[in-house]
Amino acid sequence: KTLVHGDQRRLFNTSNSRMTIMPAWVIDRYGSNDVLRFTKNAGFPIINYPNEVVVQVHAAGLNPIDVSMRGGYGAATMAMKRDPLNINQSGSEFPLILGRDMSGVIMECGLDVAPAYFKEGDEVSKKPKCLSHIEAAAVPYVAATAWSALVNTGGLNKDNCAKKRILILGGSGGVGTFSIQMLKAWGAHVTVTCSQNAERLVRGLGVDHVVDYTAGPVEVPLRALEKFDLVLDNVGGDTESWALGLLKPWCGAKYVTLVTPFLRNTDRLGIADGMLQTGVTVASKALKHLSKGVHYRWGMFAPNGLALDDISEMVDAGKIRAVVEEEFTFSQVPQAMLKVEKGHARGKTVVKIS
Ligand code: NDP
Repeated sequence: KTLVHGDQRRLFNTSNSRMTIMPAWVIDRYGSNDVLRFTKNAGFPIINYPNEVVVQVHAAGLNPIDVSMRGGYGAATMAMKRDPLNINQSGSEFPLILGRDMSGVIMECGLDVAPAYFKEGDEVSKKPKCLSHIEAAAVPYVAATAWSALVNTGGLNKDNCAKKRILILGGSGGVGTFSIQMLKAWGAHVTVTCSQNAERLVRGLGVDHVVDYTAGPVEVPLRALEKFDLVLDNVGGDTESWALGLLKPWCGAKYVTLVTPFLRNTDRLGIADGMLQTGVTVASKALKHLSKGVHYRWGMFAPNGLALDDISEMVDAGKIRAVVEEEFTFSQVPQAMLKVEKGHARGKTVVKIS
């Protein structure tokens, strides 16, 4: 899908009188927050493939990966996606518009886009009817990540969660607050780790048991609990050294971590060697832990329209709500990025565009 940033609806009439520029925040090099530059003359996206759509973005959700990518994280992988034959000079991605999460209205559809699914004027990504654009922009990236980690990698679904004990390391951020709600809607027993001042938030989302990780080594109180069927790790660092010991052995229990060196490997070693390194690392860890009767997995964001449709229904049925911590205007994009960079998220940061 092709995404449009900025307030350009009034400039856009029909596909015959197409606008060529739009306002946007761009970067001209990777770096810290001061590389962000506002322009009224960013190139307007065009449909390159018949399955693409152009969306007028009304609100954009921010994620930690946007801040990392401002600094060049994932640049090698993105360059390969944009330019698989490596024809362009390095730096040809600039001026670059960051971001991946949005809610908006379809302006134009490619020829292969089925009108039954997407048509001009639709609110996307199949926006839950009961949410504003601001709320809807807080959902897709964390929802698709949670779905990929818990359903595709972790093997959970609405019909098999009822007797499962799930531990979420890092329950108070974007992925955590979404995962809690999805698992509770499916009937799981959910324990989370978070800072003490986030307890009220996660309890309000339905969490059964909360462990304050700031009160001392968090693995100590966690070891005193009944063992888990799945651990979702949103924290990383040294968690791998103790979290797999919290799983029920020899009954298919899984540890799924979202904090992986995948993009760092490809940035450092190039695509081929980076992917090889990634494969070797994950396979050797999986084998090591399999010998102890538990499964070790890496979770990855994966776009999934069908999952978003299911999630949209769960939102409209009142089972999941958007957790928006702070809202910024389009002129405050640098402040919004700084907020995300500082960490300690309590849900999502969203930028209102129009
Ligand atoms: P957020 O920044 O929204 O949330 C992180 C949360 O973790 C904050 O609430 C923070 O609050 C809390 N936290 C920090 N340290 C700890 C700790 N030691 N124990 C418990 N909680 C802690 O991030 P997201 O939820 O968006 O993402 C979570 C992680 O998953 C990130 O590392 C992200 O990069 C990764 N990710 C990976 C993806 C993939 O495809 N592999 C996709 C999406 C995310 P506080 O510090 O106040 O406690």
